[in-house]
Amino acid sequence: MDTAFQAADPAPSPLPRRRLLEGQQALVTGANSGIGKAVAVALGEAGADVVVNYVAGPEAAEAVAEEIRSHGVQAMAVQADVSREEDVEAMYEHIFATFGTIDILVANAGLQRDAAFERMTLAAWNTVLGVNLTGQFLCCRAAIREFKQRGIRREISRAAGKIICMSSVHDRIPWAGHVNYAASKGGVAMLMQSLAQEVAPHRIRVNAVSPGAIRTPINTDAWETPEAYAALMRLIPYKRIGEPDDIANAVVWLASDESDYVTGTTLYVDGGMTLYPGFEAGG
Ligand code: NAD
Repeated sequence: MDTAFQAADPAPSPLPRRRLLEGQQALVTGANSGIGKAVAVALGEAGADVVVNYVAGPEAAEAVAEEIRSHGVQAMAVQADVSREEDVEAMYEHIFATFGTIDILVANAGLQRDAAFERMTLAAWNTVLGVNLTGQFLCCRAAIREFKQRGIRREISRAAGKIICMSSVHDRIPWAGHVNYAASKGGVAMLMQSLAQEVAPHRIRVNAVSPGAIRTPINTDAWETPEAYAALMRLIPYKRIGEPDDIANAVVWLASDESDYVTGTTLYVDGGMTLYPGFEAGG
């Protein structure tokens, strides 16, 4: 019997979550959609209070905050464009005034502006680098300042702070037609590792999650039709698309003390997309 999966499977049902993050405060950027939303809800389910950052769509952000509160923790939606220094600073001031501090940053906000290289405008380049890379720099910098001046809160975590950078398999896999995006995620890899090295002596952990193809609005074209889904499966040895919850599970673990000795690492959550599936049948 051939047990290989080929067709579209239903999304796996969610796993129960333990309260690994009780008493901690988390900020998730770009949390009113897709992966960020799943991560924000999962952190709440794991016991953390959560700040739901969004740039547009306050109703969606408030709905995510409401869902998080149903898990018996605090949540609030805060508007800020992560590529703008004054927005990021104002967001953190608001968080400190309301929640007091933060323990976990998930730098998730990201976007694509795709074009053939010769038609790529400087605006498309700058927008992608501005949100995906500079946005992570600004959000990480503000978090690091807080973690360093506050130090460890031993009653809630072994670390003084945890940062999870949302990267992509395209921090490793070149991506024609998406040069700005791949460059931004390649930049995130070195931002994450260099920062991890710099702050490790302060017991601050910095890691990245690199999703493969996840079912969210950013890549609807890749999974919406049966033809597109079938083509996508040629790139995924595990033969199913990723769900936002697959990423949320990895983020909760990286934010918890269960990964206390893990820093400077990228966790690829990609169903094997980075395993050179073109060589699946022997090359
Ligand atoms: P999405 O479009 O559903 O979510 C992106 C979020 O970022 C949205 O909430 C959007 O409003 C927000 N955002 C965009 N610009 C912003 C800004 N200037 N300030 C604040 N927020 C901003 O897409 P997604 O798939 O959930 O993407 C989340 C992250 O995961 C991104 O960093 C993306 O690059 C990464 N990723 C996604 C996939 C995938 O297959 N979906 C794969 C690899 C990496």
